[in-house]
Amino acid sequence: MRQVVLTLVVLSLASPAAAQFGALDRAQKGLKKLEQARDEIVVTEDQERQIGAEVSEKLRARFGVVQDAAVHRYVASVGLLLARETSRAGLPWTFIVLDTDGVNAFASPGGYVHITRGALALAANEAQLAGVLGHEIAHITERHTINAIRKSKAVQLGAERSGSRREIVTALVGPVYEMVIENSFDRGDENEADQKGIALAAAVGYAPAALADFLSVLAARNRGQRERNGLFASHPETTSRMEKIRRDAARLTPTALVAARYKAHVKYAAKDLASVPQAPEGAAGLAGSTSGKTAEPAPKKKKLSLGLLKPTSKSEGESAQVSASGGARGVGPDRNATGGPNPALVNVTISAAELAAFQKGIA
Ligand SMILES: [Zn+2]
Repeated sequence: MRQVVLTLVVLSLASPAAAQFGALDRAQKGLKKLEQARDEIVVTEDQERQIGAEVSEKLRARFGVVQDAAVHRYVASVGLLLARETSRAGLPWTFIVLDTDGVNAFASPGGYVHITRGALALAANEAQLAGVLGHEIAHITERHTINAIRKSKAVQLGAERSGSRREIVTALVGPVYEMVIENSFDRGDENEADQKGIALAAAVGYAPAALADFLSVLAARNRGQRERNGLFASHPETTSRMEKIRRDAARLTPTALVAARYKAHVKYAAKDLASVPQAPEGAAGLAGSTSGKTAEPAPKKKKLSLGLLKPTSKSEGESAQVSASGGARGVGPDRNATGGPNPALVNVTISAAELAAFQKGIA
C-alpha cells in the first residue's frame, strides 16, 4: 500500500487548488490502476531466462535430445543468423533438436528454441527451417508466452504480495510449460510471429514464402486429424494463414531456398501421422507437466502467496482418464509422440567467422 500513498501525495502536490476536483478524480483513477497493477506479476529478463531454462529442461526430459553435434551446429547456424537480426540479439540463444518423430517446435522464453527431428524431416529446405525458427524466435522476442500468462491471470499475486523473485519463477514454470507444449497462443500472437518470422528469414536472405510451403505440407499431413496436434495446433486456420504469409512475403525480395545444403545436413525420414510412435500410458510429462518424475512440485499457495488460479488442473484431469491413444487424451499424435532417452543439451560453439562463412552459402 505504500506505493498507493506515495502516488496520491505526488498527484496532490502536482495539482493547483483550482483543479482540486480533477486531481481527486485522477487520483481515484490512479488508485484503480495501481490496484490492477498490484495483481500483475512483473517478470524481469533474468526471471524470464530462468523460467525458459527450466521449461526447456522439462521439454528435453519429455522428448529427449538428438545427441548429434553436427545437426545442432547446422540448426544453430540458421537460428543464430535469424536471432542476431532481432531486437533481442543479446539473449543466450540456444537451439535444441528434440529426439522425436512428432512434428513440433517450441519457443521457451529467454532464447530457447526447440525443433523436433520430425519437423526437420518434414522441411524440404533451409528456407523452410528458417521460416519455422523465425516464427519461434519471434514468440520469444515479443515475450508472447509470459505476456499471455500475465494477461490471462493464470497466475496472480496473493493479497499479501510477498512473492520473492525465485517464487515468481517457480510459480510460472508450470503454466509456461503447459502453454509452450500445447502451442496455445492466440491468433494475434501467431500472426505477429508469422510476420516477424518471415521478415527475419528475408533479412538473412531466405525466401520468406517458404514458411507457407512448410505449412502447406503440414496441413496435408494433418488432414483428417481432429485432435489438436503438435506444431501450430492452435494457430489460425492454416489456409488463411498461408495466404497472409504469401501476401506479406510478396513484398520481400529474397528467393534463396538452399535445398542442397539442407539435404546434406538433414537426413531424417519423415513419418506420416499414423506411424509416429506414441508415448505409453503414464510416461513422464505425457499429459502435462504435472505427471512424471520431471514435474515440479506445485507451489504452496499459502506460504508463497503466489496463488495458481488456473494451474495445470486440466491436464491433471486428463491424466486421470488417460487411455492408450493420444486421441483419447485430446492431443494429436505429434504432441503425444514418444521421445528419446537422453535429455542432455548438445553444446556447440559457432564463431562469428564460421557464421559469416555459413551465411555466404545462402544463395
Ligand atoms: Zn506459434
